[in-house]
Amino acid sequence: MRTMATWTTSATLALRADATTRVADIDARAKPGFHGRKSDGKQLLGERGEVLAALQEKLYAGGRSGDHRSILLVLQGMDTAGKGGMVRHVIGMVDPQGVSHTAFGVPTDEEKRHPFLWRIEKALPAAGQIGVFDRSHYEDVLVVRVHDLVPQEVWEQRYDEINEFEKRVVESGTTIVKVAMFVSLDEQKARLAERLEREDKYWKYNPADVTERSYWPKYQEAYQAVLDRTDTELAPWYVVPCDRKWFAHLAVTELLIDALEKFDLSWPPPDFDVEVEKKRLAQA
Ligand code: ADP
Repeated sequence: MRTMATWTTSATLALRADATTRVADIDARAKPGFHGRKSDGKQLLGERGEVLAALQEKLYAGGRSGDHRSILLVLQGMDTAGKGGMVRHVIGMVDPQGVSHTAFGVPTDEEKRHPFLWRIEKALPAAGQIGVFDRSHYEDVLVVRVHDLVPQEVWEQRYDEINEFEKRVVESGTTIVKVAMFVSLDEQKARLAERLEREDKYWKYNPADVTERSYWPKYQEAYQAVLDRTDTELAPWYVVPCDRKWFAHLAVTELLIDALEKFDLSWPPPDFDVEVEKKRLAQA
């Protein structure tokens, strides 16, 4: 049975950041554009996952046959926003052969010796791939700005550098889907508390995450600057409320489907004579 849940406004429209987006006002429990409950949402995710997987297979097949296009999903969010779960539940629905996943942590000594985009450029998806960035070049204007890890003159320039870099990436055939994931402070506390209650979650707990909570106003300011200065027509930001994990998963599934549909993909034609091959096979 198909679900009654629906998008009353498409995810791309409902979640798109614009000049009026105020990070401080984001309701992380909201489900913009979507009408339906958790159980509906979960069922719909399964259905839409099949659509996503079919499109991704076409993208991958094209990539193997000379189509240079690819997708880059940028997941940027505070600790506990659910980046890992997004990868498991959404990217987990497609063929892993067509996925390249990179998590960006504190830069290594080698990475520190290069410009901040060096490690990013190296991780861009190849033709036919969906690249996933768990954190990204945006850390260089988020954690770096909040903690003064480089002088302001340096991070100030990075917004323009990022825009120029992303323009180049898009023009080379990669659609960038930038997802800013927002979790409320209350929900973050609950998720951190759960990590302290369960043996299977201790590995996710990092005492530094508690310290970061006190920097929330500074992070809000830094996220606001990201949305104000790096939301472009070529590489737009989508704001995804993440207190309801099922909604966040459904939303990003839709954003990926939309990006793939815009490619207007077709199956690669055979580079052999099908009839001849059928005969050869029958006789083999
Ligand atoms: P996660 O917290 O996502 O599970 P890690 O434990 O590896 O993963 O944490 C990644 C850490 O690396 C985060 O605290 C993040 O702020 C930090 N980080 C990522 N990129 C940078 C950067 N460019 N400069 C400084 N710190 C960074």
